[in-house]
Amino acid sequence: MNTTVKHTEFNIDTIREDFPILNRKVNGKPLVYFDNAATSQTPKQVIDVIVDYYSNYNANIHRGVHTLSQEATDLYEAARLKIQQHFNAKHSYEIILTSGTTHGINLIANGFTNLLEKGDEVLVSALEHHSNIVPWQMLCERSGAILKVIPMNEKGELIIRDYDALLSKRTKLVFVNHISNALGTINPIEDMIKKAHQVGAAVLVDGAQSSPHIKPDVQALDVDFYVASAHKMCGPTGVGLLYGKEKWLNKLPPYQGGGEMIDQVTFEKTTYAGLPHKFEAGTPNICGGIAFGAAIDYMNAIGFDAIATYEHELLDYATAQLSAIEGLKIYGTADEKTSVVSFNIEGIHPYDIGAILDKLGIAVRTGHHCAQPIMDFFKIPGTVRASFAFYNTKAEIDALVEGVKKAKMMLS
Ligand SMILES: *Cc1c(COP(=O)(O)O)cnc(C)c1O
Repeated sequence: MNTTVKHTEFNIDTIREDFPILNRKVNGKPLVYFDNAATSQTPKQVIDVIVDYYSNYNANIHRGVHTLSQEATDLYEAARLKIQQHFNAKHSYEIILTSGTTHGINLIANGFTNLLEKGDEVLVSALEHHSNIVPWQMLCERSGAILKVIPMNEKGELIIRDYDALLSKRTKLVFVNHISNALGTINPIEDMIKKAHQVGAAVLVDGAQSSPHIKPDVQALDVDFYVASAHKMCGPTGVGLLYGKEKWLNKLPPYQGGGEMIDQVTFEKTTYAGLPHKFEAGTPNICGGIAFGAAIDYMNAIGFDAIATYEHELLDYATAQLSAIEGLKIYGTADEKTSVVSFNIEGIHPYDIGAILDKLGIAVRTGHHCAQPIMDFFKIPGTVRASFAFYNTKAEIDALVEGVKKAKMMLS
């Protein structure tokens, strides 16, 4: 199975050829795909791996003595090693394959139920996705712990002075995303992790938005838990990773019971399998895991430094072009941000702009972006969000800018 790509230099034309979907038309216009923060597109190198899997290797893993099962198991475990290397986990068994970011967060939130006591405090940032808010609220209801919020400022940056003041001996857990999906803010997680550890709190970083743009090093960060989804980094939906430090994963109870996660089962007592299988009950997304590994190979072949540089050019270009439109306001102006532009035009509902852009073949997100508290902060119902990936172009941004001008004319 050949998952290697030849990308010796960053050439946008050859990169675009890797993505079949970029050739399609929407409403008679060439597709301009600017909803990358919701899900990324899939290169043919990853699609080929999926086709190859179902054509040649499809079998259940870790169970059969037969050849197909062994081949599928080898490919799946090889993908785990790729994920381990990419995120630089110390051990491969610290990588739990999940169905995505949401699953990983719920697994940890569930595991902490009996590790927290009434009056313990957990901190969550004001910039979170609902999937990094609601599971912690549920955890607090179960355990009697108190949820406190790290506030943000008008630029969409966390107020670190306030974070410092919130930290105390009562703080047991801190949840923060590396990058906000709604605003693109890059949070100072190194500093936040260090400070949390000084009071003995563990930190979970939601890497759903950072993993497509930055190659994280979980050991250098010294982060306790890190979660991400494959579908935001050129992989398929329904698969993701949970990294946890070995000492934490050993301390946490299993999340779901079932096949694969057991050592011995009798009706009197069941003993659990070791890591990572303790947290991987049932048949996993085998093909998805293998394709996740291929997506990581693909992105590394392009190169994360080249990706970051190019996407920053797109961000600066789009910010300048869009800001020049009268009445347009950009939300999220943090000094450190990735290629997300969230905006509104005075007096126009974001949904109406999105609908007109769709008629022009331009895919953007409108609404609260699963981050209602951020919208409440700015006292708006939602925004139009254009999020760029390394396969987008300045010409596509020009089309967006023209489309927004047209929408403004039609709607005001
Ligand atoms: C997309 C996203 C999630 C949820 O990811 P799923 O793949 O839907 O589980 C969580 N947090 C952030 C910051 C996201 O962008």
